[in-house]
Amino acid sequence: MARKILFEKLDIPGIQEYEVYRKNGGYASVEKALKTMTPDEVVEQVKTSGMRGRGGAGFPMGMKWSFIDKKSGKPRHLVVNADESEPGTFKDRFLMHHIPHLLIEGAIVSSYALEANLSYIYIRGEYMWIFKILEKAIKEAYANGWLGKNILGTGYDLDLYVHCGAGAYICGEETALIESLEGKRGNPRIKPPFPAVSGLWNEPTVVNNVESISTVSWIINNGGEEYAKIGIGRSTGTKLMSASGHIKNPGVYEIELGMSVDEFFNSDEYCGGMLDDRPLKAVIPGGCSVPILPPQYIFKTANGEDRLLSYESLSDGGFVTGSSLGSGGFIVYNDTACIVRNTWNFSRFFHHESCGQCSPCREGTGWMDKILHRIETGFGREEDIDLLWSIQSKIEGNTICPLGDAASWPVAAAIRHFREEFEYHVRFPEKIKDRNHFVNEP
Ligand code: NAD
Ligand code: SF4
Repeated sequence: MARKILFEKLDIPGIQEYEVYRKNGGYASVEKALKTMTPDEVVEQVKTSGMRGRGGAGFPMGMKWSFIDKKSGKPRHLVVNADESEPGTFKDRFLMHHIPHLLIEGAIVSSYALEANLSYIYIRGEYMWIFKILEKAIKEAYANGWLGKNILGTGYDLDLYVHCGAGAYICGEETALIESLEGKRGNPRIKPPFPAVSGLWNEPTVVNNVESISTVSWIINNGGEEYAKIGIGRSTGTKLMSASGHIKNPGVYEIELGMSVDEFFNSDEYCGGMLDDRPLKAVIPGGCSVPILPPQYIFKTANGEDRLLSYESLSDGGFVTGSSLGSGGFIVYNDTACIVRNTWNFSRFFHHESCGQCSPCREGTGWMDKILHRIETGFGREEDIDLLWSIQSKIEGNTICPLGDAASWPVAAAIRHFREEFEYHVRFPEKIKDRNHFVNEP
């Protein structure tokens, strides 16, 4: 049985409610931090824990916090990124729905560490029911003296608001999120400056994912060193995985980093193996922005080592024979899945969600969408595959924000590992057109 941190109290009946949460040790980390620790000591504990951002990038959390300039005299802010929109990723939704006070508690301790007096949770528009759950939890936290003026008589003041987005994927990018929070169109900003230097209203701001902030209470209660003992190497702690697709047990699981992909995939405690025992075709291990893996690289790295659920192991081999842990969206495909159709679906998504600021992304995602559409519907041309390859290679690294990269990587990986499927579509258009879907000429 793997160690549980975020799901430690998940099975306690009524844990969603304030009284039950409090009775079971809830808000102890706020008492400990505010009454016995300085803000810098809290930052130190998070640094010691080795905790890395769980939104997808895996940037060391304590290091990000230490970039905040507390001497500038400017107000500082914590913004919790709850704009979870990565296809295949639904772990933050689960966490906020079932244990909302864990996030509120973590946000209070984290704001204290940053010496922030005004913080926000930015939640995606489609999570309206969770927005209401969080609003209720925040109200309860105010009513019980965990938020507001002079918290626990320590002289520390904090206001926390939950703000609802309007359904744009790009607002999960931290600077687009900040623009949106400021009331503007959610266009990503050029970095640097990073938000830690100039964020919300040009003030120092830390943007952290829901899962990251929800972990802070455990780190403060148990110590950064204890947290660092869990996991493997520089991938410390636990990670929430959203498992979906052709598996027996789709769902959200908390795993200890370093667990083998084989165990996660095959064990009944987690994915339970392939649905209907059909053959495995591919896995995307970290949400749709990261490269798809063919069977030979899912359980073993190119060096023949066991593939582990860790930042290092999943990216072993770079994006040629590896992928990325990303946001932990583990999507499984069986032999009935069409990789071309799946890739087109992703391209369509990125085309739709591109904010349009930079030409490689705005135009490139549109071209990829169009070309993939015609290949998938049986109107592809022999030269289309190389053209697709060329377009994706010109998007990567040439855009303001990572959406451009995220649009190019799935296309590159699909062509790299499943080129014969694209060729089949182009060479046997009649068989493709016969399939019972879009047959209109693009
Ligand atoms: P990033 O690597 O640019 O940044 C990671 C974090 O570190 C940011 O907060 C950034 O401000 C900070 N940072 C990096 N360098 C810094 C520096 N020198 N000084 C100060 N701060 C610094 O990545 P990102 O754009 O934040 O995230 C990309 C990831 O998001 C992708 O890998 C993808 O997996 C993930 N993603 C997740 C979702 C989701 O729904 N969870 C959706 C889309 C994408
Ligand atoms: Fe907008 Fe795409 Fe450029 Fe990001 S990469 S700023 S989404 S156009």
